[in-house]
Amino acid sequence: MKFTVAIDGPAAAGKGTLSKRVAAEFGFAHLDTGLLYRATGARVLDGADPVSAAQNLTPEDLARDDLRTTAVAQAASKAAAIPQVRAALVQFQHDFAGREGGAVLDGRDIGTVICPDAQVKLFVTASDTVRAERRYLELSGKGQDVTREGVFRDLTERDARDREREAAPLAAAQDAVVIDTSHMTIEDAVAAAVAAIRTAL
Ligand code: C5P
Repeated sequence: MKFTVAIDGPAAAGKGTLSKRVAAEFGFAHLDTGLLYRATGARVLDGADPVSAAQNLTPEDLARDDLRTTAVAQAASKAAAIPQVRAALVQFQHDFAGREGGAVLDGRDIGTVICPDAQVKLFVTASDTVRAERRYLELSGKGQDVTREGVFRDLTERDARDREREAAPLAAAQDAVVIDTSHMTIEDAVAAAVAAIRTAL
């Protein structure tokens, strides 16, 4: 069975947690497409050209332990605005989406560009302050040296760049179900996503 769930939204809206929970619930495979851009950004910080970095990503690049830093997130977002970088990453995402047994992909352009025919499209969002607080707790909990102000600036800067770029900007697909998690528990958000998927299955 081929069945694709596309989950898009701004940074730290809860896409990652929601995607993992939904994938586990239905036994689908999950791809965090942000990792592809973060791995590209990390190589750019090492001095690589963004386009050749994206064209030559290795499994080791995707397993680096520095991908969750703010510096890498910013470099990812800058590289992600380059059309040739995005083009280099399309095939891998298409192959993943087309695998047997169902797939969940989360990112910024999955429902709009990568999988416009996805059976289910979700757009997960939350207010800027809620997202920044969640990301601050996540990063400081991992021992990273971050401030609330710094995390807020990183998220709002990245979102603006991701929304305003020409190439595959962050946007909800017209037929996406919008889940605003600002005042929801993770269980509420999972229940909303599971309900949308059950209806489509
Ligand atoms: O989701 P995450 O915050 O890890 O993504 C890092 C950056 O990668 C985003 O800010 C965005 O610029 C880029 N990205 C993208 N398209 C995707 C996934 C991520 O442009 N499908």
